[in-house]
Amino acid sequence: MPLLDEKLEEFYHEVVQRNQGEPEFHQAVLEVLGSLGPVLAKHPELREHKVIERICEPERQIIFRVPWQDDSGTVQINRGFRVEFNSALGPYKGGLRFRSSVNLSVIKFLGFEQTFKNALTGMPIGGGKGGSDFDPKSRSDAEVMRFCQSFMTELYRHLGEYTDVPAGDIGVGQREIGYLFGQYKRITNRYESGALTGKGLDWGGALVRTEATGYGLVFFVREMLKARGQSFEGKKCVVSGAGNVSIYTIEKVQQLGGKVVACSDSSGYIYDEQGIDLNCVKEIKEVKRARIAEYAKANPRCRYVAGGSIWDVPCDVALPCATQNEITGHDAQKLVKNGCTVVGEGANMPTMPEGIRVFQEAGVAFGPGKAANAGGVATSALEMQQNASRDAWTFEYTEQRLDDIMTSIHKRCYETAEEYGTPGNYVNGANISGFFKVARAMMALGLI
Ligand code: NAP
Repeated sequence: MPLLDEKLEEFYHEVVQRNQGEPEFHQAVLEVLGSLGPVLAKHPELREHKVIERICEPERQIIFRVPWQDDSGTVQINRGFRVEFNSALGPYKGGLRFRSSVNLSVIKFLGFEQTFKNALTGMPIGGGKGGSDFDPKSRSDAEVMRFCQSFMTELYRHLGEYTDVPAGDIGVGQREIGYLFGQYKRITNRYESGALTGKGLDWGGALVRTEATGYGLVFFVREMLKARGQSFEGKKCVVSGAGNVSIYTIEKVQQLGGKVVACSDSSGYIYDEQGIDLNCVKEIKEVKRARIAEYAKANPRCRYVAGGSIWDVPCDVALPCATQNEITGHDAQKLVKNGCTVVGEGANMPTMPEGIRVFQEAGVAFGPGKAANAGGVATSALEMQQNASRDAWTFEYTEQRLDDIMTSIHKRCYETAEEYGTPGNYVNGANISGFFKVARAMMALGLI
């Protein structure tokens, strides 16, 4: 547990009491509070306005029933969520996650993180998150469509380009966004492109959105390496997951001269000493929607480890891109022992608090998700800009905008960490800088 001053510790216990049974949310709050002591000492007005108390309470939480019928005609009931966390900087913005493990705690932790992440991008967007305990993985296209239509039949009334703008996350890719947007359009009788992002290119989507989180992560880590006088050239990298974030992380690492030797899914990991063949991964995951084990069948030189930990693989740079709490303290120790010196989080909160401590004590450069994976939401905001102006930018121009945004997030985190006396501590840099931007806006807008 990070060291908190007496008042913050008291407040943290209140958060736990008030939000019982929500361990992921507690973890996310604690991680931010751990950085805020020096900010409160410097700015006593934040205590006076109870900004921290207000920021930890979502503005609105919506939980709803999602009834639908599967292909056999059996009635299924899922639970839908949208937590509208903070709109001080702009409309709520944040993805939808469809996975059986989704619950209120997971959505609240993601919405809380999203608020600070969105502030770090410098774009006018507030924070929110949503989803359902529905898992599209084992479902037919027709079932996914019926589920999405039922989900949107309730959610649509809470959305709008100036109100709340969801996007994808785990289990929600372009197929799901298509069905969701179709139903939104049908119910509202409006082609309101700016109400959802992650759309297909033919119907209001933006170039680079698909690649944005992965590419953005690599731009951020490139800056971390640069700050240490290094680059990706020749670096051995491990990327967990094999979904949207992982695939485009691997692509950009390879373009910058790094070698990715391992990636995974929730069943196991593959190790390919010669470097991952990304076209093969894309074919398995984006076209066939199959398991990563297929990779080893197509590439006999490669090793598949069912159920093992990908963090056993020695690397210079570790890029967790699968899910929360995937790097334990023990995994972090193994990574450090095997020579890893840089970690960049593509996923949200993939490193457990003990893991962060291990990395920081070992002098590993550690880039937290709320800064390092902000490229996805930043490019969503660029998609909203294009929708609002009925424009479509080129790939090169949009990628350059993304690169500029990630470079400036890195600079902001780096400089803030120095200003508050913890040079190189990106966790403090991101938390303080994101928090302070939201806090200033909240104080300016009054007690609402
Ligand atoms: P995705 O396309 O659904 O891919 C998730 C990948 O992670 C899949 O390969 C999945 O394997 C694997 N995975 C999930 N749970 C796992 C577990 N417990 N152990 C090992 N592997 C696991 O999702 P995504 O959009 O790439 O999102 C990945 C992470 O990035 C999430 O934390 C998300 O919140 C974060 N993120 C995403 C975006 C974005 O723009 N998409 C933006 C910011 C942050 P299976 O196929 O076996 O489930």
